[in-house]
Amino acid sequence: MLEARGISSGYGSVDVLHELDLQLAQEEVVAVVGANGAGKSTLVRTLSGLLPLRGGSIEMDGTSIGSVSPHARARRGLIMVPEGRRLFAGLTVRENVDLGRSARGRRDDPDPIDVLGEIFPIVRERQDQRAGLLSGGEQQQVAFARALAGRPRYLLLDEPSLGLSPALTTQLFETIVKIREGLPIGILLVEQMVDRALALADRAYVVERGRVVLSGPAAEVAASSEVQRAYLGDMGAAERPAPAADPSAS
Ligand code: ATP
Repeated sequence: MLEARGISSGYGSVDVLHELDLQLAQEEVVAVVGANGAGKSTLVRTLSGLLPLRGGSIEMDGTSIGSVSPHARARRGLIMVPEGRRLFAGLTVRENVDLGRSARGRRDDPDPIDVLGEIFPIVRERQDQRAGLLSGGEQQQVAFARALAGRPRYLLLDEPSLGLSPALTTQLFETIVKIREGLPIGILLVEQMVDRALALADRAYVVERGRVVLSGPAAEVAASSEVQRAYLGDMGAAERPAPAADPSAS
C-alpha cells in the first residue's frame, strides 16, 4: 500500500496541497481528477519526491519514504511517468528503456525489450530508432516501457493523454488496462479526461484547491452530482438535449 497522510507541499511561499490523504493498493487503479491548477501534478511530484513534503507522511508498504530522494523511491518501486513523457529524444528507444531499468534493475534481469515488447510492440519494432522520431502515441508507449523496466510496485501517471489525438488516447487507455491485467502494480492515474479515467479506475479522488473534496469507488464518484456538473458537463436531465450521433463511434 502507498499511503499519504495529511500531506502538504507547495512552491516558494505558496502552499498548494493542504493535508491531503490518499491510498493506493497494489493491483488497484486509482484516478485523481480535478480542474486545472487543482494541484494534481503537485501531488504526483510530492509522492515521487521531486517536491519536498511540508507536512504529513508518505508510507510505502509500511516504510516511511517521505524524506527519501526520488531516486531511492524509484529503487524501492515507486516510479513516475511525467507529464509530457520526457524521453531523451536523441537516444534510441532501447537506450531510453535501459535508463528506466537502472532504477531497480539487476544485471541478470531478462532484457526488458523482450518482456515489454509483448505489451508495447513499438518498443521492440523501433528499438534502434531515435525516440524523438516517434509519434506522440509511440513515445507514450516508450515512456511506459521505460517506467515498467524499473519494475515498479506503484506507478504514477501524470496526464498521460496530454497531447494525444482521440484515437491515440483510446489506445493509451487500452494500454493501461493491459498493464493492470498483466502486472501486479498499483496505478495512480492523474487525468483531465475525467470520464475515461473514472470508467477505468477502481477508486477515485476529486481534488480542488489542493484538498480532496470527494473520494470513493470510481463509479460512485462518476455518478455524483458534483462530478457530473463540474467535470462531465451534465446540465441536468430537464435541460439536456437529445443525444447526437457520436461521429467517433463508427
Ligand atoms: P494542470 O492540470 O493545469 O497541470 P494541476 O491540477 O496539475 O493542473 P498543478 O500543476 O499541481 O495543478 O498546480 C497547482 C498550483 O501550483 C497552481 O496554482 C500552479 O500555478 C502552481 N504551480 C505549479 N507548478 C509550480 C511551480 N513550479 N512554481 C510555482 N507554482 C507552481
